[in-house]
Amino acid sequence: MATASRTRDLDKLLLRPGHLVGPNFEPGPELRDDLGEYARVLVIGAGGLGCELLKDLALSGFKNLDVIDMDRIEVTNLNRQFLFRLEDVGKPKAEVAAKRVMERVSGVNIVPHFCRIEEKELEFYSDFGIIVLGLDSVEARSYINAVACSFLEYDSDDNPREETMKPMVDGGTEGFKGHARVILPGFTPCFECTIWLFPPQVKFPLCTLAETPRTAAHCIEYAHLIKWDEVHSGKAFDPDDPEHMQWVYTAAVKRAELFGIPGVTYSLTQGVVKNIIPAIASTNAIISAACAMETLKIASGCSKTLSNYLTYNGVEGLHIKVTEFVRDKECLVCGPGVLVELESSITLRKFINILEEHPNLLLSKASVTYKGTNLYMQAPPVLEEMTRSNLDLPLFDLMGKVSKDIVHVTGVSCKGDRKTSSLKKLRVAFKGVVGVVDMDTAGGA
Ligand SMILES: [Zn+2]
Repeated sequence: MATASRTRDLDKLLLRPGHLVGPNFEPGPELRDDLGEYARVLVIGAGGLGCELLKDLALSGFKNLDVIDMDRIEVTNLNRQFLFRLEDVGKPKAEVAAKRVMERVSGVNIVPHFCRIEEKELEFYSDFGIIVLGLDSVEARSYINAVACSFLEYDSDDNPREETMKPMVDGGTEGFKGHARVILPGFTPCFECTIWLFPPQVKFPLCTLAETPRTAAHCIEYAHLIKWDEVHSGKAFDPDDPEHMQWVYTAAVKRAELFGIPGVTYSLTQGVVKNIIPAIASTNAIISAACAMETLKIASGCSKTLSNYLTYNGVEGLHIKVTEFVRDKECLVCGPGVLVELESSITLRKFINILEEHPNLLLSKASVTYKGTNLYMQAPPVLEEMTRSNLDLPLFDLMGKVSKDIVHVTGVSCKGDRKTSSLKKLRVAFKGVVGVVDMDTAGGA
């Protein structure tokens, strides 16, 4: 009885044909049951968006969910991360969120993972049909995007093979604004194709801060970026140290009094220094609903998916707009992969050095995986030791003497002066080997 009423709305979408359905849509109760039984969805993040996503997906008929989040619950989360209670403070978000949704929605199984996204192997991510992102950082999105795109294979004409495509649904909110997007690697732009949508944060020019402050934020940034270093020669500012924050606040107040600028408060100081934008529960709810809907559409085909980027703005009134962005044909992440041509005698050690110097990669401390096998792992120590002996073997031999194939590498890449974890898909081709292998194949056929 409860189950029937719970699926009533879902049934309207899944049991009936329609004009806007996807190409392979076959309505019927089997579809609804299969969705519950076989669809596996990974939710990344169990914060403001993640809590909403887990609840929405569970109530949309998905029964096999996993959630990954590295954070513990803080008191300040409780106003919007509605799955958490005061007694949960200090516990892992993923574990509490999974437990709470399972208590309320019968028949749903949610597996929590309390760890960093980089700690999971590629195998882990490949098990899911759809990956839904409820994250607040560009770096984490970039990483997951690279992971999902790494599963994409291309045929010999460089056309993406649809059966290897791992769909992603990405949500994001900032105050009263938000976005929901569908990423079908190889078919719609990936996160990296449109990385320009996330411009670097606006910083105030130092000369303004030093000479012509006009706002309270200018005074705070002066205290934070200039005065702190002058007074504390060499000691790094720690935004999480209340004494440091108090010092910046006091210095900012003095600065503001000097220039007759009102409005410097302790909480504004925290906001400016830590670049905090208040989180709004209703924005999370709206964006999550859009993401859950797209996930349902991808999994069931009950409607064509969003094409491909929805923006929501609730600052004044309510504006929703969908923009169709296009793929960057040269994208290093969702394209066929960076081509690295090598002599067949190149050792794995030399290959790892090449990655560091390659202008399109600049990848240091690389770990190398081929077809799910670890050729060399930098960490953990036990894996490093197990794979170390491969370093002096030719990569060509380690890859089973194929003429060319896809290799996955993870490491640290430098963008400007920033270092980020990075995963790359490389097309490794061995010089002078192609002809031989082609002849063998021809002879066999
Ligand atoms: Zn791309």
